[in-house]
Amino acid sequence: MDCIFCKIVEGSIPSNKVYENDSVVAFHDIQPAAPVHILIIPKKHIPTMNDAAPEDNELIGDIFAAARHIAKELGIAEDGYRLINNVNSDGGQVVYHLHVHLLGGKKLGSLLA
Ligand code: AMP
Ligand code: ZN
Repeated sequence: MDCIFCKIVEGSIPSNKVYENDSVVAFHDIQPAAPVHILIIPKKHIPTMNDAAPEDNELIGDIFAAARHIAKELGIAEDGYRLINNVNSDGGQVVYHLHVHLLGGKKLGSLLA
């Protein structure tokens, strides 16, 4: 499948991985928007949150559990961080393989428009 994040899951495209388990992979974003900028993705190809089905609920939970674990490992859990999932055009989604951005390492500005 012609999906850059599926290729990262397969290992045919390199990534700077910080975490992996049976269901998810997490790696550094190539264009970091904050001192800590990690992408957490399911190994299963789900294009957007709109495409996630009820049977994916456990997998969505796994993504957030990984975020919690990584934030602690990277030492930003106490100061705080932000988890973002962009959906489709208005949400600013560029890569159509579901992912959650983990941002932290500085005081983040407001995102409210
Ligand atoms: P989004 O706008 O939510 O779809 O975010 C996609 C993110 O993927 C952007 O922050 C990109 O910098 C990041 N990205 C794209 N290609 C790669 C890659 N090969 N390795 C790591 N991050 C990537
Ligand atoms: Zn994919």
